[in-house]
Amino acid sequence: MEEIKDTFLHPVVPLDFQNNYRVGAYLQRYLDGFKEKKILGAKCSQCGRVVVPPRKYCGACNLVMEEFTELPQEGTLENFTVGHVNLEKGQWKRADAPYVIGMVRLDGAANAMLARLNVSPADARAGMKVKAVWKDQVEGEHADLDCFEPA
Ligand SMILES: [Zn+2]
Repeated sequence: MEEIKDTFLHPVVPLDFQNNYRVGAYLQRYLDGFKEKKILGAKCSQCGRVVVPPRKYCGACNLVMEEFTELPQEGTLENFTVGHVNLEKGQWKRADAPYVIGMVRLDGAANAMLARLNVSPADARAGMKVKAVWKDQVEGEHADLDCFEPA
């Protein structure tokens, strides 16, 4: 494997910052669903599209989506890439092992969501069926949905 350039691992601009922000009503509802290990999407009353994470406006109809619906825990890995570094406290650190992140389209969803995959890079395939893996202890945070693994 090609060595990662030192300038990449040690950026000139430090990236050590914290954000404190409100996620908004739609993402709050999504995260509240995580407390029950549920994945909620917003459904358009006109075209029926379900988007996850939920957002206020349908991208096709430009109408406010007011209905929330629970999505299945399974979907399809549409595409992926292999990561070799992690950003930790503003510094790039070499990962212990290469890992897979990709776009997962839950069954019935109109869009795919970014997720970490619990599958080796050699075994990852676009089009493979995957299922959600939750942390044992959920608290209504993004990290509750730990990853997806082959279904
Ligand atoms: Zn629509």
